[in-house]
Amino acid sequence: MDRRNFLHAAVVGAIATSAVPVFLAGCARTSTVPTRRASDPSFRADDVLRQTYPFSLPALGYDYAAVQPAIDAMTMSIHHDKHHAAYVTNLNTALQTQPALQGKTLRELLTSLDTVPDAVRDAVRNNGGGHANHAMLWPLLAPGGAKAPTGALLDAITSEFGSTANCLAALKAAGVAQFGSGWTWLVRDVTGSLSVRSTPNQDTPLANDARVLLGVDVWEHAYYLAYQDRRADYLDAVLAVLNWDAVTRAYEGS
Ligand code: MN
Repeated sequence: MDRRNFLHAAVVGAIATSAVPVFLAGCARTSTVPTRRASDPSFRADDVLRQTYPFSLPALGYDYAAVQPAIDAMTMSIHHDKHHAAYVTNLNTALQTQPALQGKTLRELLTSLDTVPDAVRDAVRNNGGGHANHAMLWPLLAPGGAKAPTGALLDAITSEFGSTANCLAALKAAGVAQFGSGWTWLVRDVTGSLSVRSTPNQDTPLANDARVLLGVDVWEHAYYLAYQDRRADYLDAVLAVLNWDAVTRAYEGS
């Protein structure tokens, strides 16, 4: 019997023995760290990175149509409510059998994957990474906010790339060049330097202790309904509507 069948049998068994309230009470526990809506100016991706098992999906906090026409409402809905939710569910399922990991924060799990048991390492890497990466994405798409970097962030971008346009071009190029599924990122490394990089699948720059300033999802599920194979067009559209207040908050680490 594999784990899924075992869990199914456990649920059926629990129902049969009238232990349902106890079982459901265990499932219904919410994370100890309250998660603000992603659109809330006080939202921090750190809110999610500080979560421990059982992990929870942060509310989007804005309308699925808010990012149109760059991203259509159906894509936003499926992306948040189905794809991100599935990463959370699958991460919780993986940790159900790992009490030693249940007290670790999401950030701790992702920055110490080598200490995660073989049996669940890939599940934590993929689903924990998926949870973290999407939690960092939603505030960047929240309507409103600055439409270009300013202040110290602009200075850092100008110093590294010459201009904001060059930085965005580098993000686009990395996203277009990422073979298959992945992400394109602007990160601030431990020395304070900015750089653009890409990662495959749900690998996250957090694993290298980098601070994520912004990340754009280049999985087909992020754009295929409206853009089909035109990933470059999707990147142009998304990079033009970023909420730079969210990027600034990440840069300042506040
Ligand atoms: Mn995604």
